[in-house]
Amino acid sequence: CSETKIFHSLRPPVPLPPPSEPISITEYTLSLLHASTTPTTPFLIDSATDHRISYADFLNQVQSLSLSLQSHFPSLSQNDVAFIFCPPSLHVPVLYFSLLSLGIIVSPANPLSSTSELTHMLQLTKPSIVFTTSSLCHKFPETLKSINSVFVDQPQFQSMLSDTTTGSGVVGKHAGRVISQNDTAVILYSSGTTGRVKGVELSHRCLIATLAGFYYNRYESGKDNAEDLPRQVMLFFLPMFHVYGFFGPIKAAALGETAIWLRGFDFEKMLEAVEKYKVTYMPVAPPLVVMLLKSDLVSKYDLSSLRQLLCGGAPLGKEVSEQFTSRFPHVEIVEGYGMTEVGGTISRMLGHEETKKYGSAGRLDQNREAKIVDRDSKEALAPGQRGELWIRGPAIMKGYVGDHQATAETLDSEGWLKTGDLCYFDSDGFLYIVDRLKELIKYKAYQVPPAELEHLLQSIPEIADAAVIPYPDEEAGQIPMAYIVRKPGSHITERQILDIVAQQVAAYKKIRRIAFISSIPKSPAGKILRRELVNLATSAAPAK
Ligand code: AMP
Repeated sequence: CSETKIFHSLRPPVPLPPPSEPISITEYTLSLLHASTTPTTPFLIDSATDHRISYADFLNQVQSLSLSLQSHFPSLSQNDVAFIFCPPSLHVPVLYFSLLSLGIIVSPANPLSSTSELTHMLQLTKPSIVFTTSSLCHKFPETLKSINSVFVDQPQFQSMLSDTTTGSGVVGKHAGRVISQNDTAVILYSSGTTGRVKGVELSHRCLIATLAGFYYNRYESGKDNAEDLPRQVMLFFLPMFHVYGFFGPIKAAALGETAIWLRGFDFEKMLEAVEKYKVTYMPVAPPLVVMLLKSDLVSKYDLSSLRQLLCGGAPLGKEVSEQFTSRFPHVEIVEGYGMTEVGGTISRMLGHEETKKYGSAGRLDQNREAKIVDRDSKEALAPGQRGELWIRGPAIMKGYVGDHQATAETLDSEGWLKTGDLCYFDSDGFLYIVDRLKELIKYKAYQVPPAELEHLLQSIPEIADAAVIPYPDEEAGQIPMAYIVRKPGSHITERQILDIVAQQVAAYKKIRRIAFISSIPKSPAGKILRRELVNLATSAAPAK
């Protein structure tokens, strides 16, 4: 395909450290830590208790934990995997920074995962150490009970955070730990374009490239003088195991922000926190924008400090953006589009002019190239034409851990990553996401892989065949819907199926709608024709 049909980022390239320079994401973060941040500046605040961790406290905790981990677990080596299975708390960012600075691979999982989901993830990543809590450890399979484990809700962990006797040093520069940028920093979980959950390996360089983009957008772009910019106060409640939530504290640290953490999402508590802490921006998923738009509670709170909603993870309707902007003229919706496999964002809006392009996902991020590829001919397409978006640049996954086939299907030999999203660029370089070609369902921006639910449904003896598709839903974006073929003579009911599935998967993956059908439409090669089912579901009278 023609080089002329490659879309290059219109933003000036952001300089990155030379690839051969050994530097970890933690060292890079600290090198950016904005000059105006003093040791007493609050970095993390728990809005439920008002417990504050200053930048100095945070770095001390990171240092203490890194050193304690080395002394408690001397066999723990660089490039070992640490599996994090904890409810969100202010300990989690400390844990991430400590492990990353030791060159240990961080692999955080959704604490709502069931034992079978957990078993699958553990088989993928084979961790050497597990961080969990006493209330979650029963979910671990028997075979893993002997592994090194740390309970982050126990006093021993607390003392590891505040142990001043273990020595001193500079975070990320511990003797003997030379971290090369190509080393894996984190393994996050995503189903990618097809199949079951996979472990997405992101290198330190990938995270550095993403962070460099955030930093540039804040301090280097335009004519703003960094010193004059008011400190940003971020309210964050995104899941810390997801790429956006994982990055939240790293970005906040690099940019010298104060991050207010909302314990367990509660809409009214969120409004209270915005008022109390004079929050300036919140990373959100589209359902939250809809809630803000529709709720009467909003008028009870002073939200005048709020300047931006960074919205991503799933599509946000153009009409919702327009209505939101007319109701909250002082708040900009900054749309961003990304995926786990690129370690953050692919495109976003930057500046007031771009945020007016309602319905678009902004322009390509710095240092990125893109192609819009015709799925059949593999030809690269021109502006205005729709095809699969392919992405190339320094912030791309290394691959799916231990799964060469899935890696080869997603990443080609020229370094292009196939997003599985149907998109087009307009002639001004704005990206529009039209549809999802891949199987993935997004329920409130959470990933629900249909293949996993189909596997489960097919294991129910009274079910002959099943297919799971996304069904549009105003509040959640999409809900998982199943088409079921009963075995001859079976009378299994919708309720029974819903209950069986609900008992075995995390709550957000539950099937929420069912229709019975005589056979599942399939291609000659046996692939489920999901598009046909989606058309059937959306055109049919309410399914039973
Ligand atoms: P995840 O890896 O969980 O972040 O999911 C990535 C997928 O979410 C993308 O490939 C898109 O299908 C979808 N997605 C993320 N951000 C957006 C957005 N702003 N608009 C539309 N879809 C999005």
